[in-house]
Amino acid sequence: MIVTRFAPSPTGPLHLGHAFSALMSQRIARSGGGTFLLRIEDIDQSRARAEWETQIFDDLHWLGLQWPEPVMRQSERLQIYRDALQSLWDMGLLYPCQCSRRDIAEALSAPQECAEPKVSGPTVGPDGPVYPGTCRPLRPPTGTIPTDLPLRLNMARAVAQQDACFDECGHGPEGQTGTIRIPPDHMIHAIGDVVLARRDMGTSYHLSVVCDDAAQQVSDVVRGQDLFEATAIHVLLQRLLGHPTPRYHHHRLIRDAAGKRLAKRDDARAIATYRAEGARPDDLRAMVGL
Ligand code: GLU
Repeated sequence: MIVTRFAPSPTGPLHLGHAFSALMSQRIARSGGGTFLLRIEDIDQSRARAEWETQIFDDLHWLGLQWPEPVMRQSERLQIYRDALQSLWDMGLLYPCQCSRRDIAEALSAPQECAEPKVSGPTVGPDGPVYPGTCRPLRPPTGTIPTDLPLRLNMARAVAQQDACFDECGHGPEGQTGTIRIPPDHMIHAIGDVVLARRDMGTSYHLSVVCDDAAQQVSDVVRGQDLFEATAIHVLLQRLLGHPTPRYHHHRLIRDAAGKRLAKRDDARAIATYRAEGARPDDLRAMVGL
């Protein structure tokens, strides 16, 4: 049984890239007689707005998409994410970290004793510069899990327990397809100790997406190539938490005339703007090549 989902964050208008992703997701579900789901990823309550959510529903309905109601909303699932963090904490895989972006930048630019002079800048992973490990304890912290501090995943410990391997039915940004195995070394040095519980949020995109795809029994994740690198984190978390790994279909990104990937602030490409200008759903399909 195929289950796909489109999982936008209600932090701005949907644009042509979202239309492409949602239509692809529905197409893959339909091709297998499966179900297409909509999920609202609103853990960032400082940016999520009810108006954007309403517009997401309107735009997707206008495009001809349908999904079962009620939809899953991440803001209603904070306890589920807490429970997942507790499991990872009990496995000794999390530690609190209070470093600011600035602390991290400073630690990464500080000259290191005995280190070769750096020719290039710090390694950048899916969440930005790879964390230098300032707060990483030598042994897993004991006691109760802190609820008011950001928590990071101890990547070296995590990959010692599970590996990350998944089936890519689409393509990564460099054409990656088929069985993708991510070497532990890459996980440690190119991704590093990612934050799984953000301050004021109690969770993170990575943790929530893994819990939700599992809860919704999503069999096929259809999304843009910009999230290909993050998939390694998601697959590792699925394994650690005992969830199945879906198939992944990463698709090309819709770009503007200058070749730049569309962003939420590109109002000119917003579905709502095209609608207001009198475009029809078929016009949008044609614009994204569907
Ligand atoms: N909420 C994410 C976004 O709007 C998408 C998450 C996903 O498809 O895994 O970019």
